[in-house]
Amino acid sequence: MHIHEYQAKGLFRQYNIQTPKAVLISAVDEASKACGELGGDIWVVKAQVHAGGRGKGGGVILCRSVKAVEAACEKLLGSNLITPQTDDKGLPINQLLIEGGQNIERELYLGLLVDRQTQKITILASTEGGMDIEKVASETPEKIIKFGVDPLGALSTNDCASIASQLNLNNTLTDQFITTLMGLYQIFIEKDVSLIEINPLITTAENTLLALDGKIDFDDNALYRHEDIVTMRDKSQEDEKENEASEYQLNYISLDGTIGCMVNGAGLAMATMDLIEHHGGSPANFLDVGGGTTADRVAKAFELIQTEANVQGILVNIFGGIVRCDLIAEGILQAIEKVGLNLPIVVRLEGTNATAGLKLLDESTADIHTEADLTQAAIKIVELSKGVLQ
Ligand code: ADP
Ligand code: MG
Repeated sequence: MHIHEYQAKGLFRQYNIQTPKAVLISAVDEASKACGELGGDIWVVKAQVHAGGRGKGGGVILCRSVKAVEAACEKLLGSNLITPQTDDKGLPINQLLIEGGQNIERELYLGLLVDRQTQKITILASTEGGMDIEKVASETPEKIIKFGVDPLGALSTNDCASIASQLNLNNTLTDQFITTLMGLYQIFIEKDVSLIEINPLITTAENTLLALDGKIDFDDNALYRHEDIVTMRDKSQEDEKENEASEYQLNYISLDGTIGCMVNGAGLAMATMDLIEHHGGSPANFLDVGGGTTADRVAKAFELIQTEANVQGILVNIFGGIVRCDLIAEGILQAIEKVGLNLPIVVRLEGTNATAGLKLLDESTADIHTEADLTQAAIKIVELSKGVLQ
């Protein structure tokens, strides 16, 4: 689960990480009061969306008058922000963070993540923070400092001080850096975080260290023990279809290809997607209908796939182990009855009650291609979907 910058900064403050003074607003007429509360004469208006790269997408606007702040709010609120990290629809801006403009001297990067390769919590730090950290990581990886912490061990102040010295921080800033990194580490452990990031972590002309941005991703599997985090969820920032799917316990992820897939089991779903790619197609989604699925759930899954705008064909690949193939066939027919069928569909059923399932499909009046072999099924759907023009 992701949260907004303002929520991440709220958590930062609870763990003694310094952030600039800021006010959250959701209507333009709150802007001038917010500027008054913050004081000063430079403000930064920041779109709250679940994506980075907001600066590059025009979602971070520096303003030198209250009028300019109001104009920025007018422009952003209610629109969608497209950044290098969103799709071409972007994400809706419902809230803005108005922040005092800071006297930035240096922009550093500081983050923690789970590194599966080293099986450690890895601290990443760099003197080259700011909007191009991805470029730094790929073009000059030597500028990224890496430090692994054993998940059963602990982070010491000495470790933090050593990273601070590699970032060339003076004594005052080193003390603040230790508090900041210790705070991040504590949030990481206590809240079951998978990624936490401050980019940029700035040093100011006043010799202070401030978290100017904040990003936190939480491990969904551990959310059941963090009610406080769950309440921060903002569904407006999530994929509507993925949410609908999760209500039906369907494991669904939208992709940008053209072939909708319905498969049981995550591994089989991945293999099916690979086969589609291998034969010249591209999957429109990942969908695992689960082991003990029902006709109802299959119908819902089918509906979800069919209503995805870019889908030009559907491949159903079910291996009946616990799930019965005739139930799947019933679900497909139910869904066709409900939402119609206007796309080519290839169904491959194998395993428990496969014969019964295939018979149901073959006897129906719907135009369903059945295949016994998975490779043939993939080739067939790629071929059929090419004939569909949107
Ligand atoms: P994103 O990473 O999504 O682009 P950031 O919050 O990191 O958004 O902001 C982008 C850039 O805007 C920062 O690197 C910084 O240079 C500038 N910026 C952001 N907030 C402030 C602020 N309060 N004062 C001055 N500059 C800011
Ligand atoms: Mg940033």
